[in-house]
Amino acid sequence: MTECIFCKIITGDIPAKIIYETPELLAFHDLNPQAPLHALIIPRKHIATLNDLTEADAPLLGQMYLAAQHIAAQAGFAERGYRCVINCNLDGGQSVYHIHLHLLAGRKHSWPPG
Ligand code: AMP
Repeated sequence: MTECIFCKIITGDIPAKIIYETPELLAFHDLNPQAPLHALIIPRKHIATLNDLTEADAPLLGQMYLAAQHIAAQAGFAERGYRCVINCNLDGGQSVYHIHLHLLAGRKHSWPPG
């Protein structure tokens, strides 16, 4: 767990531009933004992937989406819209194995995604 870069952001060992935090969550700007606003919302609890989520974590996932709603609204993107994505494992495009919700806003997103 100590090798996890997002755990290191939580402990402050790796710097990040923090946007929002609660006792359960942290949100910060993505290092390689794919939209004018690209935030990552993570639980402080280390959960590797969506596959590792349990029933007990269900409220946490709800809090992550509410955080995305809050951040998008604060940034003025609520009405225009935004995209929330959780990538899971190789085919999902996951590269950091600490579950995170991408919040992308400020440009039009196409469908289907790449
Ligand atoms: P994923 O590919 O869904 O696992 O997303 C991982 C995201 O983490 C990518 O968008 C990376 O740009 C981002 N990322 C990796 N390292 C950092 C970091 N130290 N600070 C902020 N974002 C990061």
